[in-house]
Amino acid sequence: MKIIMLGAPGAGKGTQAEMISEKYGLPHISTGDIFRANIKNGTELGKEAKKYMDQGQLVPDELTVKILLDRVAQDDCKNGYVLDGFPRTIPQAEVLDAELTKLGDKVDFAINVDVPDDNIINRMSGRRACVSCGATYHVVFNPTKVEGVCDKCGANLILRDDDKPETVKNRLDVYHKQTQPLIDFYSKKGILKEVDGTVAMNEVFNAITAILG
Ligand SMILES: [Zn+2]
Repeated sequence: MKIIMLGAPGAGKGTQAEMISEKYGLPHISTGDIFRANIKNGTELGKEAKKYMDQGQLVPDELTVKILLDRVAQDDCKNGYVLDGFPRTIPQAEVLDAELTKLGDKVDFAINVDVPDDNIINRMSGRRACVSCGATYHVVFNPTKVEGVCDKCGANLILRDDDKPETVKNRLDVYHKQTQPLIDFYSKKGILKEVDGTVAMNEVFNAITAILG
């Protein structure tokens, strides 16, 4: 079973991907992780990717696809995988499709974890991070014992720039521009499945397992 996870940053698709991975015994492949693994192991692809990353540039689609295809060609992917963070653009989706077709293969499900922007902005603005030890909390879902003070080390908590409504909104705008076309792409192929991502984590997962069987 080959699964693609779609969903805005902050929608919780990584968590769901991890849960799918555990239940179905499929590797959870996140582009961030495979970039890091290639760089750490000093592979040719990793060296190439590092050149772009060191300059603060985005890794080009072509290279990202190469790294991804190299990963899914490994033994543990024989029975399928869960892709998280890939494809991100239509060209990436098209290359993945073409490469799988060559192998007589295809993606089975594209699962969109749907959460309205306002909801994500609210969730993110409730996050708090410790300035000293880096522990993270949430004012509603994972509060500290004393407001504004880290449970682990007693230092002050802050709202990180990354979690500020402005920043989150910009990220969501980019996401919609890039990903809406992907939603249409997989919808036309008849493999798009939408799940409501606003409910509790376990309920989202139940909806997903109902789809996957
Ligand atoms: Zn702390």
